[in-house]
Order: sequence, then C-alpha cells, then structure tokens
Amino acid sequence: MPYSNPIRTRTFRLLTIAACTLGSFAIGLAATRFGSAGGVEFLPAAIVGLVMASFCALAAASSATSFFAGVDESVRYVHFETMHDKLTGLPSRKATMSKIGSAARETRSTGKPVFLVDIDIDRFKSINDAIGYANGDELVRVFAERLRQSVPHGTEIGRIAAGEFALLIEDNNGGERIDLFVDRLLDSLAKPYRLQTHLQSVNLSIGIASLPKDGLKPELLLRRSNLALQHARASGIGGWAVYHAEMGKVADYRQWIESELQAAFDRREFTLHYQPQHDLSTGRIVGYEALLRWNHPLRGMIPPDEFIPIAEETGMITQIGAWVLRQACLDSKRLPDDCFVAVNISAVEFTKRDFVADVAAIIAETGTTPSRLELEITETAMMQDRERAAAILKELTAMGLTVAVDDFGTGYSNLSYLIDFSFHKLKIDQSFIQRMNSDGNTGAIVSTIVGLSRALGVHAIAEGVETEHQATMLKAAGCNIVQGYYYGRPAPLPAEQITERPRLRAVS
Ligand code: C2E
Ligand code: CA
Ligand code: CA
Repeated sequence: MPYSNPIRTRTFRLLTIAACTLGSFAIGLAATRFGSAGGVEFLPAAIVGLVMASFCALAAASSATSFFAGVDESVRYVHFETMHDKLTGLPSRKATMSKIGSAARETRSTGKPVFLVDIDIDRFKSINDAIGYANGDELVRVFAERLRQSVPHGTEIGRIAAGEFALLIEDNNGGERIDLFVDRLLDSLAKPYRLQTHLQSVNLSIGIASLPKDGLKPELLLRRSNLALQHARASGIGGWAVYHAEMGKVADYRQWIESELQAAFDRREFTLHYQPQHDLSTGRIVGYEALLRWNHPLRGMIPPDEFIPIAEETGMITQIGAWVLRQACLDSKRLPDDCFVAVNISAVEFTKRDFVADVAAIIAETGTTPSRLELEITETAMMQDRERAAAILKELTAMGLTVAVDDFGTGYSNLSYLIDFSFHKLKIDQSFIQRMNSDGNTGAIVSTIVGLSRALGVHAIAEGVETEHQATMLKAAGCNIVQGYYYGRPAPLPAEQITERPRLRAVS
C-alpha cells in the first residue's frame, strides 16, 4: 500500500491487540487463581464464568475497535492525501475533477452556466529549474494565496498541475461579468511575488470553458479549457481565451509540430536567414539579425512564431538555441569585419542555470570575436527574476558581447529596472512602428523611447520599418538604426562572403 496511517501505524495496532490479549489472559489467570483459592466460593460458578467471559469479550472488543479504527483512519488519511494538495492546502487535481463533475450535474439541472477557468504560470518548469525547488514551492504557495484572495467568496479553486490552477465560477458572480473578472484576476496575479530570496515576476495564460455548452465530462472540460489556455499563450503574453471548436484543429497542428521538431533537428531542416540593420546617420549596414527558418520537406517553410513557443514548452529550444548561436557565430566570419550578428535568445535559454557558460563555450569553440555578437533578449525574459537577470547581463557585457532589449515596450515592466541592467540597445517593438502611420500618439511613444535610450546612454533601434514615411518619422524622432522590409527582407547568406554593401535607400 503506498500510503500508511501515521496516527495508528501497523505496529501501534499490533501492540494494542497484543496488549489486550495479554491483558485478558492475565485477568483470566488472576480470576482462575482467585477462584481456586476459594476467594469466590460464595458466588455461583456460572456468575464467575460470566464475569470472566465479559472481561475477555471486553478485551476482544478493544482489540477489534483499535484494529478497525485504524483501518478507517487509513482510508480517511489516504482519501485526504489524494484529495488535497499538500503545498497549498487546495483540492488536488482528483478532487477538482470531482467538483467539475458535480458542477456539471448542477448546471444541467439549473441551466445556469458555470465557467471552468484554467490558469497556468507560463514556463513554470524552467522558472523552477532556475530558482530551485524550495523557491519554486514558495512561489506556488504565495501564488495560491493571492489567487484565493482574488476570487469571490465561495469560488471553487483547485491545483491541477505544478503551476496550474482551476476555478469554477458562475457568470456574474459577485455582480462581475466573467471577462471583467478574468481581466482583474490577470492584473492581480501578474504583480511580482516577494519570495524570501528575491522578487519573482510571472506571466500567466488563462483558458475558459463553459458548462454545459462545452461539455459535461470533467476530462473533456479540462482538455477544452486547456486548449483555450494554449491558444491564449500562443497569441501573446498575459492573455486569456474562451474555448471554441476551431481550437481542436490548432491543437492537432501543435501536436504535429511537437512530434516533428526533434526529427527536423536531426534531419538538419533548420537554417538561418539574415536581415540587415542600417545606420541612417552613416548610411551603412551595421549588423544582421539571424532569424530561424524551418524548411519542412512536405509542408514548406514553417514560421518561427509557430514552432518556437512549442520548442520552449518541450525544452527542445535549448538544443535549437545552441545550434542557432553556433551557426550565427560561424556565419559572422562571412560578413564584413565591422558588422555584428544579432541572435535571438529565448526566455527559456536566458533563465537556464548555465546560460552564460554555454555562450562562452560556443564563442570559444567558434573563435568568434565577442564584440561581433549581439544577443537580443526580450524585456519579459529579463523581468522573470530581475536580480538574476542583472547579474547575467553584467557577465555577458563583461565578456564583450552586446545586448539588445528586444520587443521593447510590449511588456508590463516598470521602467526603473532598466537602470540596474547592463545593455546597449533598446529595440522598439515593430507594433509601435506599424502604428506610426495611423496613430499620432504612437509617434510620441517612439520619441519617448528614443529619449529614454539617450538618457540611459544606449542606442535605440526600430524594427519592422516598411515604408519611407516610417523611416522619415524615425529619423525625425532621433532613431538612427533601422531594420525592416523597406531596407531588406531576411534572406540566406550568399555562399561567398558579402563584400559589397547594398545601397541604402534615401530618407528625406
Ligand atoms: P523578432 O525577434 O521580433 O523578429 C522580427 C520579426 O519581424 C521577424 O519575423 C522578421 O522577419 C519580421 N520582420 C522584419 N522586418 C519586418 C517588416 O518590415 N515588417 C514585418 N511585418 N515584419 C518584419 P520572423 O523571422 O518570422 O520571426 C518571428 C519571431 O520568432 C522573432 O521575432 C523572434 O521572436 C522569433 N525568432 C526568430 N528566430 C529565432 C531564433 O533563432 N531564436 C529564438 N529564440 N527566437 C527566434
Ligand atoms: Ca529579435
Ligand atoms: Ca519584435
């Protein structure tokens, strides 16, 4: 039996039974001696026999009670253990399934919809690996506590996997619509958690299934809320999605990618394309960003946005990322000497324990000059554990590498952290550049980011520049390094060394 009763252990019960047997034997013996010594001559033999039999029955009953109480307690203990999560005290996955079943039965009879809300901490496994299991446990505990405090009274909460929780909530519970409730929940849960050793930020994804519309079976409902969750995760940070039938097809595609990734890597189906970065003030190409391409023999080009998130979830990104870095270092030798190569680093790689050592090993192995290597690390990757990120960035810059903060402006970060980080560039996310045409405020945001980079003594770079108008506005805002289709699409490196630089388009 995998569980044992800690209150009345098997030894304890055996001892009780032995003590009772011994006790009844001793009483019987004493009574016999007392009887034969003539101490009970005045009593009829039948009464003496009855008293002795009663004592024996009492002893036997005590043994039996102890034995069966022990069995009962064992059953209760095993039940408690499987239905409760030790770390948070919340109902376990098993208990949650049974609560979903009850809610489904109830909603069928009342017709009142109930929502199953699936909440998952993004990349919990790599956070756990990076901060250690004791801190990981503490994170789960404080997260569960904040979750408890953020939901209306009476909401069922369960912990269904390491970093995953489920809620059962009625629409308009506490007078709040479900979409507003989820927005508020995300806001509250996304605030950093104070652990004993550091302040930990997390990103969350939420998926919602509706009972009875999306089914009545707990397994099916959980699968569907989880599909919605995966969907929310794939479409960006800190999002939520409601299940709909199309998601099943997306799930099949994801499963296919997951099953193909390792084989694709072994078959060497990955390549790197390079996109130039121009300096508007000198009119020169200063570097190239390496962008990963998967050319599948049957399905053709699969864009990185479709397979990198899955590689991150499965851990394959470590292998792929090391290959990208090594290949980009080798390719840099075929670029003009004064050009750097920029490599995208996934948050999973960045938070890995031996990330810096791995980078150093690849630089040494390929003989790359560190100053020719730029690492693009997203703002959200840096925000996961700020103190650790600050230390890693310091080590990387001490090695002579350049660091660019990628997708800048899309995270929810507090700008004050920037002061503690060593980096050289802020890469303004392309969503801002694209909105510059239509939205006057965006121009002001871009100017502000350029001003911020000046104040920090770093460069600003704009990605996703597609039109001359955008280029002109960027120049006016003081952003001199640009990258985008207007200047050149990502393309494979030609077989021979690039010696001639393509001419830069004029910007009025
Ligand atoms: P990112 O780092 O923001 O890369 C820029 C993306 O914008 C690239 O898409 C690029 O092809 C595209 N792009 C460049 N100029 C323009 C433009 O003018 N207009 C528009 N609409 N798009 C433009 P891509 O190559 O599909 O990569 C998508 C994302 O995949 C990248 O976004 C990056 O987050 C990730 N990624 C790509 N390669 C790697 C890699 O080697 N490792 C990791 N970890 N992530 C990678
Ligand atoms: Ca990038
Ligand atoms: Ca970007």
